[in-house]
Amino acid sequence: METYDELLTSISDSSGAGRAIFDPATGEKVGDAPVHDLEYLERAVDAAVAAQPAWAALGHEGRSAVLLKAADAVERSAEELARLLSREQGKPLNGPNARFEVSACAAWLRAAATIPLEPETVVDDGETRAELHYKPIGVVGAIGPWNWPMMITVWQIAPALRMGNAAVVKPSGNTPLSVLALIEVMNEALPEGLLSVISCGREVGARLTDHPAIGKIMFTGSTAAGKAIIKSSADTVKRLTLELGGNDAGIVLPDADPKAIAQDLFWGAFINTGQTCAALKRLYVHEDIYDAVCEELTKVAAGMPMGNGLDENNVLGPLQNKAQYDVVANLVEAAKESGAKVLLGGNPNTEQPGYFYPTTLVADIDNDNPLVSEEQFGPALPIIKYSSVDEAVEKANGLDVGLGASVWSTNLPAAREVAARIQAGTVWINKHGVVDPRIPFGGAKQSGYGLEFGVEGLKALGIPQIING
Ligand code: NAD
Repeated sequence: METYDELLTSISDSSGAGRAIFDPATGEKVGDAPVHDLEYLERAVDAAVAAQPAWAALGHEGRSAVLLKAADAVERSAEELARLLSREQGKPLNGPNARFEVSACAAWLRAAATIPLEPETVVDDGETRAELHYKPIGVVGAIGPWNWPMMITVWQIAPALRMGNAAVVKPSGNTPLSVLALIEVMNEALPEGLLSVISCGREVGARLTDHPAIGKIMFTGSTAAGKAIIKSSADTVKRLTLELGGNDAGIVLPDADPKAIAQDLFWGAFINTGQTCAALKRLYVHEDIYDAVCEELTKVAAGMPMGNGLDENNVLGPLQNKAQYDVVANLVEAAKESGAKVLLGGNPNTEQPGYFYPTTLVADIDNDNPLVSEEQFGPALPIIKYSSVDEAVEKANGLDVGLGASVWSTNLPAAREVAARIQAGTVWINKHGVVDPRIPFGGAKQSGYGLEFGVEGLKALGIPQIING
């Protein structure tokens, strides 16, 4: 185990040719990320190709034991990792943020290591016997975003490794240090060359998507980048798991208890200061309880401290980067100009350092307002009034994305009926965005395809093979 400074030094560029990474809360420099080139990428892929057969030969039990050791290593360095994540990404140490993210890395590693996966007997009728097995793919490329950089990397690589593959990771250029540090720590337990990270720009990273030695890309990011990866991976017929953008709807039915749901609604929308793929981004509330929900949600939201992530009191942080800050600020500004009513926030303090955008709730807003129809990916939630459940369902289904959704009600059977009508990969009831390593997760429509987590998540990192006879 290393101290924070030792960990940062070991992953940083010391040649003077690195790229400075700044803390989005203060503007201070966090460290220098290496800038890897295509040659470096080729060496990493070669090393992965060389290391993979011996790793595959360990079998499930052998690999699981090593992955559990990698989880132990993450736990031993948890505080150093959380601190670096907080400084680079901006998310606070406390709340469902940096410490939570690092502990999720260990939890997902353990789950991927231990979920049983046995060959399935498909037919066994005395004449025919067919079994379904899952073989390693070879080398998997993992390309991730900046919002949950460590956790999403683990979501991609833990099942890949468990299934006998090697992996090469390309983190977002906004948060390379977090991923470099995570992998440095995991590599305390893993064989050399099996898992590596390329800290590079998009152009170099894109090489993973058409590289003949890479058999699968695990991609999490925007829908636009997902479409580009589908195209560039076509010539090598790569397998793809695509977790893309979302614009999750929540529908509050008329029988819900506004006070009882306010806290969970808040975290469903504002976890990681709204920078979460499956966060609640459009809230549809029945007219009978619209004012009460707005009032209770405003009370909860107003009491949540936002500020520098290293301050133990804060549970909300800055936007991670200026581009995302501008997206949120412009969408809220346009909503205000359209006549929507700002219940809270909406008025950033431009004098203060950092990309802080205040917690913002916007009511009396039309469904076709861009703050509703576009993914804001920040701390601004539009609340739309509806009159009939049919209308709410139609509006929830009205976009070309469908990652998550939620239904809020005291009547569980009624909520389940509404849930079944929503076009989304997951529909939560009386909660939103709560993920679990045992439960598959993936998108509908243009939110992507393929499942992560659980036994389905493991199968997605293998090549199915039928043994017939
Ligand atoms: P992004 O698509 O801009 O970048 C994601 C990653 O892809 C980065 O590492 C980037 O460098 C790389 N990339 C971009 N274009 C590429 C290309 N053509 N070839 C290869 N790599 C390429 O996304 P972002 O801004 O980092 O993340 C925010 C987006 O991610 C949001 O839309 C959010 O909803 C989505 N997201 C989805 C999930 C999910 O599970 N569905 C989770 C987190 C974030």
